[in-house]
Amino acid sequence: MSRNNLLEPATVVGASNLKLTVNLDALAENWRFLDSLSGKDVETAAVIKANAYGLGIEQVAPALAKAGCRTFYVAIEEEGLRTRNVVDDAQIFILNGIHPDAAKKTAAQRVSPVISSRPQLNFWAKYSKPGTPCAIHIDTGMNRLGLSASDVDALLEDQSSLGNLVPEFVMSHLACADDPEHPKNREQLSSFEKLSSKFPGIKRSFANSAGVFLGADYHFEQTRPGIALYGAEAVNNVPNPMKPVVFAAVRILQIRTASKGKTVGYGASCTLKRPTKIAIASVGYADGFHRAMSGSGVPLRGDGSSGGLGAIGNHLVPVIGRLSMDLTAFDVSDVPDNELEQSEWIELFGNRISIDDAARNCGTIGYELLTSLGSRYKRNYLGTS
Ligand SMILES: *Cc1c(COP(=O)(O)O)cnc(C)c1O
Repeated sequence: MSRNNLLEPATVVGASNLKLTVNLDALAENWRFLDSLSGKDVETAAVIKANAYGLGIEQVAPALAKAGCRTFYVAIEEEGLRTRNVVDDAQIFILNGIHPDAAKKTAAQRVSPVISSRPQLNFWAKYSKPGTPCAIHIDTGMNRLGLSASDVDALLEDQSSLGNLVPEFVMSHLACADDPEHPKNREQLSSFEKLSSKFPGIKRSFANSAGVFLGADYHFEQTRPGIALYGAEAVNNVPNPMKPVVFAAVRILQIRTASKGKTVGYGASCTLKRPTKIAIASVGYADGFHRAMSGSGVPLRGDGSSGGLGAIGNHLVPVIGRLSMDLTAFDVSDVPDNELEQSEWIELFGNRISIDDAARNCGTIGYELLTSLGSRYKRNYLGTS
């Protein structure tokens, strides 16, 4: 045995208590649907940052490439290199930019920077060989990443500052696209039209998932959806047209009964109002089942909302008391005995409970729920990869 083996994670012994099923066919279908919402000449890229929103770059990227996706966006260098390992002929851009220390390695793998600041531009202008692709991010009002309007003017006054750089795309990012009526959408659109016109002949990329739904004005030459690919809501307060992609479930470890007046869990924050059948399941905040899912005893529950839910078949089973690092108690009193006896698993989301509802139950959004799932899930991929 080499020394290195000692550092590798222990081999999983026995069955896993958490399962995550990812349907790659539904993912591909979602990509094709988003692609169909923009014109034939508009390219649909895919955002697969944060390990493809927690679902696995190694599986998600090839499935999207097979569906026809030719451009991938990730957040950091390592994600770009991982993407290159599994898709050979697509363009890969790093949204957070590439640190000079990583430039050699990423260039060798044809992984390209999205340039967002003057210092980055100066570095890449000197570093890049003729024809090296990059994208330029301009800020249109979000004040996150991107060159400002005055940076763009300065750059264009001195064209030599671009060096050998040939921007493949100029891009910007919408701050409020999840609210179609928000006036900021139009403001950013007109700012993007104005600033991008200073780069004639360069393709433009503007819309995230929600931006795709804002209509053709927002599509330009390329769209960049992320969350909608994974089946979660992109736009607030409208029915979600995407196919569900992810299903998560936890194993029941034991079922106990406790009488009225007893308490459950840390802090004894929940006093039972009736004789209760309790399923103890092998999931906790270490698995991204956030502590705010607790039925009581956490700040979020001060607002009167009822906390997280699981499902057994069609029956919703509420979380009771504070959930802990590795364990959660669910009230299963209302599940008929014959169904309960046969149930090994409690659904966390994906079928009876949408990702977005699960996220709302703990005061967050589908994006955060997916990207914090943790490493204890046994991941199972269905369909093409
Ligand atoms: C994350 C991200 C996207 C994708 O956004 P979704 O809302 O997930 O579709 C697109 N562009 C940029 C710059 C991003 O950071």
